[in-house]
Amino acid sequence: MASQEDLFKKVISHAKEYGYVFQSSEIYDGLSAVYDYAQNGAELKKNIREYWWKAMVQLNENIVGIDAAIFMHPTTWKASGHVDAFNDPLIDNKDSKKRYRADVLVEDYTAKIETKIEREVKKAAKRFGDAFNKEEFLATNQRVKDYQEKIDTILKRLGQSLENEDLADVKKLIEELEIACPMSGSKNWTDVKQFNLMFGTKLGASADSAMDLYLRPETAQGIFVNFLNVQKTGRLKIPFGIAQTGKAFRNEIVARQFIFRMREFEQMEMQFFIKPGTQSDWYEYWKEHRMKWHLSLGMGADNYRFHDHEKLAHYADAAADIEFRFPFGFKELEGIHSRTDFDLSKHQEFSGKKLQYFDTDESKNYVPCVVETSIGLDRMFLAVFSNSLQEEELENGTTRTVLKLPAVLAPTKAAVFPLVKKDGLPELAHEIIDDLKWDFNVIYDQKDAVGRRYRRQDANGTPFCITVDHQSLEDQTVTIRHRDTMQQQRVAISELKGIIHKEVDMKSWLMRMNQV
Ligand code: ATP
Repeated sequence: MASQEDLFKKVISHAKEYGYVFQSSEIYDGLSAVYDYAQNGAELKKNIREYWWKAMVQLNENIVGIDAAIFMHPTTWKASGHVDAFNDPLIDNKDSKKRYRADVLVEDYTAKIETKIEREVKKAAKRFGDAFNKEEFLATNQRVKDYQEKIDTILKRLGQSLENEDLADVKKLIEELEIACPMSGSKNWTDVKQFNLMFGTKLGASADSAMDLYLRPETAQGIFVNFLNVQKTGRLKIPFGIAQTGKAFRNEIVARQFIFRMREFEQMEMQFFIKPGTQSDWYEYWKEHRMKWHLSLGMGADNYRFHDHEKLAHYADAAADIEFRFPFGFKELEGIHSRTDFDLSKHQEFSGKKLQYFDTDESKNYVPCVVETSIGLDRMFLAVFSNSLQEEELENGTTRTVLKLPAVLAPTKAAVFPLVKKDGLPELAHEIIDDLKWDFNVIYDQKDAVGRRYRRQDANGTPFCITVDHQSLEDQTVTIRHRDTMQQQRVAISELKGIIHKEVDMKSWLMRMNQV
């Protein structure tokens, strides 16, 4: 546990030290759960967004992208159910005065049991060696089966109590499990209460005529209210999708996990409109398709898993999360939800405007159903960043810190160094940059010994370092060093573009979606 915490601390300090993520308004001691992306972070975030957008919008003939406003007519949130039901159950500890999400306290409890299962698996894998079959072990080992049953029973009860709004039972569950406040160890809890997560604000100058607005808590509603406009102007036929990336705001009760849970964050959502009755096929399709997108980045299949929801949101008839192994354990990274015709029907009811599709094949009107894929850009950033940060033991006994970002996402693709700051080497290095910069983000660095410059770029996640030396002036060749293997090659300057392109080209990374 301590080492997990240490690892997470390292991730946070590395993100700051290398210009990825800063606390918002740091000079005023920051603002809780709000963060700014710095020079490298903004690039990494942009690249993740582009990787998603291309996979969704460019590679699917029947998906288009929009950019709706953050402010929406307040009735939107009445219709969507957010005013009445976008709540989290909160509980306070009377001794420490700390506030928690009641469901998260219970889930953290089951996560601890899960760690015990993982420990058993590790032990058994060691004992049985090559003959170890994980599936069989999980299905037959009595201790593991008992642990799993305990987890399932707890989560089922939690799901049911939340679904039935039985908050007294959620408290009872916390008491029965003897869950203590992680800060103080006290088990002296208040009752569980519902807390609405939407931020309110006002539109208009004078107090009496001002209109109460909400900052959108999800981007999805901007897609629903535009559904018919987009369908008609784009002459789209069902099934089709509308994608969008943008900011969303939630007044999270507990926000102590860096950019995992923020009060202002960015979502990448796609709503796929389908014929009623076909939900389960499309739901399975998008689950599989989204997992392929994740796997294409090569961050290890072991780091992902599906988690089917016990408690369904007010709009859904099926829902699953893609969970990722963050430094603090497996947690939700993306949600895939079968939202039925809930949203469109509600907007139709509240607006009095028809939101129906005319199906020419069937010659009839209907309100389509929707399968949604929804991923937090910041959570994806944290997944990529934390998974990439590694400490490597080198053959000479030293260690190096290397940020093994998937090359396609790296903020800077290459750094160009003159071996020394004289003899025309800086000039040639700048000439190389002037040529490469039209295709890639490249930077110049002449400070310190070359070995230190390599280390700096390793820690920054730059896939290539190019060193210009005296020989370069004579034969127009340079040394190119690969971040992950640390191998160096002598190549012609004219070959550089091709070598870098091969590793960072978005097309070849995206094509891996078809190979995983
Ligand atoms: P959680 O259970 O972690 O609060 P959620 O189930 O409420 O998340 P959704 O409403 O399904 O999340 O939102 C879709 C995605 O948006 C999530 O999978 C997550 O990646 C991202 N997301 C949600 N809330 C936040 C937040 N506060 N900060 C950063 N990302 C978030």
